[in-house]
Amino acid sequence: MSTIIYPSPIFGPVHSRRLGISLGINLLPADGKVCSFDCIYCECGFNEDHRPTLPLPTREEVAQALEKKLQKMTTEGQLPDVLTFAGNGEPTCHPHFAEIIYDTILLRDQYCPKAKVCVLSNSTMIHRQQVHDALMKVDDNILKLDTVDPDYINKVDHPNGTYDVNAIIEHMKAFHGHLIIQTMFMRGTIQQSMESVDNTGEEYVVPWLEVIKQVKPQQVMVYTIDRETPAQGLEKASREQLDAIRDRVIAAGIPCSASY
Ligand code: SF4
Repeated sequence: MSTIIYPSPIFGPVHSRRLGISLGINLLPADGKVCSFDCIYCECGFNEDHRPTLPLPTREEVAQALEKKLQKMTTEGQLPDVLTFAGNGEPTCHPHFAEIIYDTILLRDQYCPKAKVCVLSNSTMIHRQQVHDALMKVDDNILKLDTVDPDYINKVDHPNGTYDVNAIIEHMKAFHGHLIIQTMFMRGTIQQSMESVDNTGEEYVVPWLEVIKQVKPQQVMVYTIDRETPAQGLEKASREQLDAIRDRVIAAGIPCSASY
């Protein structure tokens, strides 16, 4: 099975049609994965198969590496359109996440003021005031909410610690619209346990949509499996299913994109 472990603390840039030139910032170690979830679809693989031996990059290392890269990109005349916090796990797990966001915004303003700062997070640390405040300062605060069903979350996202979906929803509301909700839809059955992971049915979509309406994010992104997954038996949601879910979100007055 092929999984992706990204360089740290800077990787890319990656060219994407949707984002343009995206420079990755990975706050996790370069030789493994650190995440408060252990999703069965994670492109980095399962946590236990990728335990890192290296430490997390320090705040200073991140700032220095980012500045060096932005200087190089300036010389080459190819500045990033977006600085994306992603990589080998959950960026908000880093103890100095908030300070690193402030450093990054300063460097962005200095070298590429038009670029957006984007964070991809699984939402497990948004109860921390410092994390909340830092996420309020970024341009795209993209937070995962795969379902509002606790059993499904335990089966698919495998939170490492206590995860209370109702508390997560309340903390999402506290962003007052300054968030983008990202939701993975898929079908299939986990080969090992023969449990269904299909969250495209009404029993999942209806309560999820109700929560979306309550949280009122600026946007919703629905997507499906795109790469090989560590668990076997998972299947993509169909284009028709994703488009239908997208249209229901839009009908509720919230912009939504579907990536198939
Ligand atoms: S939250 Fe993201 S990084 Fe963490 S296990 Fe899930 S997919 Fe992987």
